[in-house]
Amino acid sequence: MRQQCYSSRLNRLFTFPILALLPLLSTLPAWGGIQAGAAVRTITPAMDPAKPVYIAGFGNNRVATGVHDELYARCLAMRSGGPPVVLCSVDSIGLFFDDVQKIRAGVPQAQVIVAATHSHETPDTLGLWGPSPGVSGINEEYNALVVRRTIEAAQAALKAMRGAKLTVTKTRPPELASYIRDGRPPVLLDDELVILRLSRGNGRGIATLINWANHPEALGSKNTLLTADFPWALARDTESRLGGVTIFINGALGGLMTPLGVKVRDPRYNEIAPPDSFRLAEVIGNGVADIVVDTVLKTRPSGSSKVTYQETLVKIPVSNPGFVQAAAANLYKGRKAFGPDKVSTTPVGLLRIMHRGKPLLEAAAIPGELYPEISLGGVVRYPGADFPDAAIEPGVKTMMKAPYRMVLGLTNDEIGYIIPKAEWDNQAPWLNNAPKRLYGEVNSIGPEAAPVITQAVKELLSKP
Ligand SMILES: [Zn+2]
Repeated sequence: MRQQCYSSRLNRLFTFPILALLPLLSTLPAWGGIQAGAAVRTITPAMDPAKPVYIAGFGNNRVATGVHDELYARCLAMRSGGPPVVLCSVDSIGLFFDDVQKIRAGVPQAQVIVAATHSHETPDTLGLWGPSPGVSGINEEYNALVVRRTIEAAQAALKAMRGAKLTVTKTRPPELASYIRDGRPPVLLDDELVILRLSRGNGRGIATLINWANHPEALGSKNTLLTADFPWALARDTESRLGGVTIFINGALGGLMTPLGVKVRDPRYNEIAPPDSFRLAEVIGNGVADIVVDTVLKTRPSGSSKVTYQETLVKIPVSNPGFVQAAAANLYKGRKAFGPDKVSTTPVGLLRIMHRGKPLLEAAAIPGELYPEISLGGVVRYPGADFPDAAIEPGVKTMMKAPYRMVLGLTNDEIGYIIPKAEWDNQAPWLNNAPKRLYGEVNSIGPEAAPVITQAVKELLSKP
């Protein structure tokens, strides 16, 4: 749209034939029509001995003793050809839909998408890691602070919106896989980096949205300092080199994409980065940042004509008795009302950036931790599975048409692992002749999550 404005103005200004303008027009920016702004607020809790902060992600009663790096809510607002869309990333283990709805209520003028980075070194906002197994770790004051500060960041991002250039790119060098270990068959990593960058006309950064799949748990289960984990170093390095705000959104990290146990060479000390350490988190964050910066700086801006977000609410039967018991014990503190039918209502969304009538970027907003074989396609029928005849879910990314495809994990809700129904295994004999139960089902809402969510994505993709 901006390009048309330029050319009509130029037509009025110059009287020589239009053909003479063509070389000039071809040097004009191929972008236009998009406005973008970004903003950041801290969400680090106050350290008060009278109010213990329970750290989420591993066992119970891991009380924070300090802060290694600030936790943030970071938001990117975009508008092009429709209402504004705000994408927020929060340094948190996860936020339930109930809290996301509170954030949305504070930003009524925009469509708001809230993703949790899933850092396992942040306060318990879900209630599962309190002082003992039956006691919630949620501090309502802290969840309210996350809601309030995310609203502030979203509003500030909207206020900062100005004309912007948009760059979309992707890359998958082999180093990315070295930062991840897959804890369950099939060994399959959805480790592509997909990057959306917004910048001003002079190239100064507004925001860099980085989509990559890995558990931010490089610090392991013993650490007691609050940290965003590897997204801390990733954001620090990309923000200092590209400017603007880094919005890290995790991808298909289920089944189980983890840095625990990886052997990564530390380029500074030329040795393997020590396990469960800030140095390991930093090496991963630095490494991913190097790849992001190199890739972005090599990519020319794209055009954009429209940004849209569509969402549907789906109902998933809650068959995991652990989830029902957690709700009954009030671990979620009133959130996740499954009702007498034991059904979870959760949002599934689709963000699209269009260019010249075709999708340039499609991003599925998934309310939990998708197994990579449901992102890329590649579900395997193993002996021992509980539903040997279950239909195979199509890969979310394989259903998309855009050249750039994202799975936005833990977005707008956290329902746990989203496991292919054909790989579901809660009863012996165990999957693929394993000697014991594989890890996964215990943290999943149930075997219907994957079929219901992939069907919802398929329907959203079929809409114009
Ligand atoms: Zn997880």
